[in-house]
Amino acid sequence: MIEILVLGEIENEEIAPITGELVAAAETLNGTVGLVLLGENLSSQAQNAATLGAEQVFLAENEFLDGSSIDAYVEAFSQVCSQLQPKIILVGKTLLGQTLGPRVAFRLNAVVAQDCIEIGHDMMTGDLVATRPVYGGNALMKVMFPRVGPNFIIVRGRVYEPSIIDESRVAEITNVNVEVSQGNLRVRHVESVAQDVEGMRLEDATIVVAGGRGLGGPEPFESLHELAALIGGSVGASRAACDAGWVDHNYQVGLTGKTITPELYITVGISGASQHMAGCSGARNIVVVNKDPEANIFKDATYGVVGDWNKILPSFIETIRELID
Ligand code: FAD
Repeated sequence: MIEILVLGEIENEEIAPITGELVAAAETLNGTVGLVLLGENLSSQAQNAATLGAEQVFLAENEFLDGSSIDAYVEAFSQVCSQLQPKIILVGKTLLGQTLGPRVAFRLNAVVAQDCIEIGHDMMTGDLVATRPVYGGNALMKVMFPRVGPNFIIVRGRVYEPSIIDESRVAEITNVNVEVSQGNLRVRHVESVAQDVEGMRLEDATIVVAGGRGLGGPEPFESLHELAALIGGSVGASRAACDAGWVDHNYQVGLTGKTITPELYITVGISGASQHMAGCSGARNIVVVNKDPEANIFKDATYGVVGDWNKILPSFIETIRELID
């Protein structure tokens, strides 16, 4: 019997990194860990999933699980959870996980905690507890779950080191029968349009260089791209910069944008509104360039430079070039 069930994800025909992170998170709890994959032809992925460390790998295959309808995934995952009856279900804070988790939790009348950065057991009671940032990362909320599951925990990406792949691991691989009918699919997938992304995806980047309204226009973002390319980072932005049309909303970091957890977050001309900080509170180091010494973002800065980016940024880029050459 499985006590903790991890929803595995497949990306570009490979097991997505979030899967290993969720298995690692599951291993910090007490209980047997199962991993489920939802899809069409999963046998080639099954052994890869097994190398991550779960005791059992479950394959839920169905022709409608081809990525074209979220309704099919909701239906299938609900059935998997009902059949396996895990006490704890771990889902990644990904596009799939965020869409699927709450809907399946609602169907199963389960408790759900979003955007968790730590899970464990209360030292006194032994109850399951998850920690999630609130108020734009200014406070941490502890969510205590009832003893009777299922309890859904949606885990932020890159907060757990992924479990180490070990080819010698053997997990029991079991097929789970799921029935999805056309009648259940209310959302119809019409077309997928791939967005041009320069460099690594913001959510996966270990270095992010972001610009805000203080940049004054779209042109300075070219300097941010130059800096990001030099140090192997990706470019992000505040909502103000995106709303102004200087960069696409795909760059937006924050409450209504992307949640990032880089090792290094360099911000230029960003004030640090709580809605922005909500998306970057997991950054290990924040470097701030802002001309206002009172700017809120300095409260979270590891290093800060008070001054005009017009002077600071070119010399910063120049120095990095010299260091690299
Ligand atoms: P500003 O607050 O205008 O700050 C610009 C900064 O640039 C200032 O600190 C200024 O001192 C500095 N500056 C100016 N000139 C220079 C210079 N020459 N050199 C150096 N520094 C300079 N915002 C987000 O970012 N992400 C979100 O997801 C998000 N979601 C939101 C959701 C809701 C419901 C709401 C209400 C708001 C949301 N916002 C979000 C908006 C947020 O409240 C702020 O308005 C926004 O983050 C401000 O962006 P900014 O820091 O670039 O601009």
